[in-house]
Amino acid sequence: ETVINRIAAGEVIQRPANALKELMENSLDAGSTNIQITVKDGGLKLLQIQDNGSGINKDDLDIICERFTTSKLKEFNDLYSINTFGFRGEALASISHVARVTITTKTEDATCAYKAYYIDGKLKAPRPGMSPEPRPCAGNKGTQITAEDLFYNVATRRKALKSPSEEYNRILDVVTRYAIHFSGISFSCKKQGSNTTDIYTSSSSNHVDNIRQIYGLQISRELIKIEYTADNYDYKASGYITNANYNTKKMIFLLFINHRAVECSPLKKAIINLYSSYLPKGTHPFIYLSLEINPNNVDVNVHPTKREVNFLNEEFIIDHICEQMQNYLANANA
Ligand code: ADP
Ligand code: MG
Repeated sequence: ETVINRIAAGEVIQRPANALKELMENSLDAGSTNIQITVKDGGLKLLQIQDNGSGINKDDLDIICERFTTSKLKEFNDLYSINTFGFRGEALASISHVARVTITTKTEDATCAYKAYYIDGKLKAPRPGMSPEPRPCAGNKGTQITAEDLFYNVATRRKALKSPSEEYNRILDVVTRYAIHFSGISFSCKKQGSNTTDIYTSSSSNHVDNIRQIYGLQISRELIKIEYTADNYDYKASGYITNANYNTKKMIFLLFINHRAVECSPLKKAIINLYSSYLPKGTHPFIYLSLEINPNNVDVNVHPTKREVNFLNEEFIIDHICEQMQNYLANANA
């Protein structure tokens, strides 16, 4: 059974960046305003996330890494709700099947923090002969989750990965998206032992500050603010796109649907096409776009490694988004 769980977990968590995305979404669900990430060897040796969210009750710690025992999966209806990020209740379980997990957590009401170790979904004693029960320890409100030696027990998965630096780039990509989108939340990401953070945003900064912080000053001067409600199409859009003066070698497309980082290839293609009449050949725009669509019209693939999203009336909405963008671009360049 353990081996089957491990293989299934390797499907859910294919690389360090998937694991981190799940952990970040949990921190966001827990209402955190400060999320700090520490990484070693591209997340293969160590992936650590510290938040200041609600914390986990001591009594929940023994089952928290078992599949589908999550507090968020209360009703079947919740499967269709994307107001919270997590709704499958298998992220922590999966991670604990392919890594050594340590959780230190404290709720507001608890008099102290608790620390627990996990292997294969179950509490594990820190040393032979000791009790596996969570131990009281010092700590502030919030949760720290550490995943060490990712895929230590799944050689095939480990071999399929790119170099630690490539895996780290994927981690930075995930953190970048959430750090830009969630203004009001402070994010940091660094390599373990390093004095400098590779990504840092402050809780008091807005979207443009965050974009400047991560992508530099030049881009922040060429941004056009997007904000409109399309009642006829039942969606809202907001974000920032670059004007025709700015271009990069690679398109940067940060898409959020209902506050989840997702991909939508048809939309991406349409935007590339739109900008092709504005930008020199071979150059690309920066797009940060947040769409709010009636959750009932969105088909979120429940597979965590597939971020591709489909929604109702997709073609019409994509056309409408491009029309709006075209107007914004034309006004900015007029
Ligand atoms: P899901 O998010 O789908 O509920 P997960 O396996 O991702 O399932 O998480 C299991 C449960 O652990 C969550 O429902 C939540 O109650 C708790 N949890 C996980 N991470 C945190 C965190 N950072 N802060 C507070 N609670 C957390
Ligand atoms: Mg989750």
